[in-house]
Amino acid sequence: MTKKQEGKIGKAELKSTELGVYILERCTPKKDLVRKLVEYAKGVFTPKTLERVKTCGDFMQHLTTFDMNAKRVHRSNSCGNRFCPICTWNKAKKDAIQISVTMQGIREEKDQEFILMTLTAPNVSGAELKNEIDKFNVAFKNLMKRQAVKKVINGYIRKLEVTYNKERFITKEMYNNPKRQEYFVKRGLEIGDNNPNYDTYHPHFHVVMAVNKSYFNQATQYISQAKWLEMWQECMNDSSITQVDIRKVRSSEKSENGAVLEVAKYSAKGNELYHSKSVFEIFYKALKGRQLLTFNGLFKDYVKKFKNGELDKYKKQDDTEYTHLLTSVWQKSKYENVLRELTVEEFEEYNTKAKHIEENDEVE
Ligand SMILES: [Zn+2]
Repeated sequence: MTKKQEGKIGKAELKSTELGVYILERCTPKKDLVRKLVEYAKGVFTPKTLERVKTCGDFMQHLTTFDMNAKRVHRSNSCGNRFCPICTWNKAKKDAIQISVTMQGIREEKDQEFILMTLTAPNVSGAELKNEIDKFNVAFKNLMKRQAVKKVINGYIRKLEVTYNKERFITKEMYNNPKRQEYFVKRGLEIGDNNPNYDTYHPHFHVVMAVNKSYFNQATQYISQAKWLEMWQECMNDSSITQVDIRKVRSSEKSENGAVLEVAKYSAKGNELYHSKSVFEIFYKALKGRQLLTFNGLFKDYVKKFKNGELDKYKKQDDTEYTHLLTSVWQKSKYENVLRELTVEEFEEYNTKAKHIEENDEVE
């Protein structure tokens, strides 16, 4: 054991239950969502899949420090289902690191800059959603094949996200959203009025694209927002599309992390996906078997490098010394926790393994 650890022994009077509540504060609500999913997915998933999803996250082990300043997942039983709230959360946290590290590698080694683009179209009904996503996929392919685009985009990450509008009436929050306000004002709508988009779905793409540094200074290559919009309207064959959001990702950590979180976050938000059985079934039919996150060009090459460990130098180091192991077992409606100190062998092994940051905890 190290000196650092010995010094903290005196603070160790925390009960394992208290520590468990602290560590698992973000996991417990997700276990509640699992219960909802299992209810809605009856008759949709096979009994075997249902059973696996039901027990997802029932067993978890976290490495911790004595004073609870740090934690990290050590082991857990997970179902791997793409509609599971626990597994999608864990995947989003891992995707965020992979995307962030590949972006750093590409920026440094290929001298690239990044653009973040959001492609949308008017909302559709649940019955139209599946076809609409197919249409998005074809339109996106055609957009990337355009000569003007092909010439400047050296690779991209594309994320499909679908939101569901569950508000029957216009809320204050919706009304005050700067992107939406114009829409309401134009139609003479106010807070509390019927929401014209109630019970509709909004598929959209978040795209991070790599371009040469010179792209921003070359008038012959640079694609304006108006041009992107025009091309997207043409590819979607829909002139009623009014918005393409496009911005440069600055090289600050904040700007870059914002872009990473856009493409790493879930394809469907929990409070929408598990809103009701019928909504869940629509999401399920539209998203099952679909590629939600795709890597192309430089990004595809760098994902390979990431997986081979060639980009480890861009990963942040985790200098924490983990001294304890918290084992949590789900009992009906809460986790029961047991905390114990690591053995000397475990301490060495687990801390070596935990050297690199593998998950981005900012994903909610
Ligand atoms: Zn799961």
